[in-house]
Amino acid sequence: MNIIDGKRVAESTLRNLKNQIEHHKIHPGLCFILVGNHSASQAYVKMKKKRCEEIGIDSTVLNLPEATTEEDLLSQIALLNENKKIHGIIVQEPLPAHIDPKAVHLALDPSKDVDGFHPINVGKLLMGDITGFPSCTPYGIIKLLEAYNIQTSGKHVVVIGRSNIVGKPLAALLLQKGAFADATLTVVHSKTKNIEEHCKRADILIAALGSPHFVKASMVKEDSVVIDVGINRIEKNGETTIVGDVDFENVAEKCSYITPVPGGVGPMTIAMLLTNTVESALRSK
Ligand code: NAP
Repeated sequence: MNIIDGKRVAESTLRNLKNQIEHHKIHPGLCFILVGNHSASQAYVKMKKKRCEEIGIDSTVLNLPEATTEEDLLSQIALLNENKKIHGIIVQEPLPAHIDPKAVHLALDPSKDVDGFHPINVGKLLMGDITGFPSCTPYGIIKLLEAYNIQTSGKHVVVIGRSNIVGKPLAALLLQKGAFADATLTVVHSKTKNIEEHCKRADILIAALGSPHFVKASMVKEDSVVIDVGINRIEKNGETTIVGDVDFENVAEKCSYITPVPGGVGPMTIAMLLTNTVESALRSK
């Protein structure tokens, strides 16, 4: 069994980005918008900001109060859309209940939507149009497979989960024609019957459902590849720990490659966010 080291691949991606920024003499700018005091979002933005600083992306955080109206938020986005120094805009979710995330996605200039959530970018992803921005977590998973030369062409890939940010865009990427795509795909979700039977047929199994240790060794084919997207906070011995959607200890013995949690897909998501930001700055140049 081989462990797919997402931290290592992400670090190498960030080094390449730093070199690109220096080589092209560009000044990428990324703005995070935080509405309210969601502590996990604040920690997440802090981590992303640190990575930006390490490689030479100018990042700013726009902190807005919980009571910000949707109209006010959209006006702030409109200003950032016009700002030539900003190449990427991230509106951190979850948003307060009175703000519709769909309206926020639509308000973003698609050329600055480095999260890949605007319908134009989602459509381009589906059509294999590389002028859009792929959604970061699925993009990071493809880059991890590429880094370990894990071929997907003609392989049966089973994705557990069909969310707009992971399952669906990942399915779209794997269905494209070309390298690290060309897969035969099954997507399962909460209404699927006999999930175990589908999973057992997977050459590559990707779990993105948000249920701790959902994937057991009995659900995995011998020598298959297992990618764990899940980030679940659980209480263990009085402490909070983060675990994935895969029962790592038992599944690892059975498969050929596996991602750990933490240190697998997570670091790649941030690396791809910064990749999209640098790409946006290069395009605007
Ligand atoms: P989500 O929006 O809650 O979607 C979960 C999906 O899993 C849904 O499609 C749901 O089915 C399906 N599902 C839930 N329980 C199921 C079950 N028992 N059997 C089969 N399918 C089930 O979650 P998400 O945003 O996609 O995130 C999924 C996980 O990935 C979470 O743990 C999240 O924290 C993590 N995540 C990690 C990263 C990273 O960078 N590593 C990035 C994003 C998300 P229905 O559609 O039928 O409800």
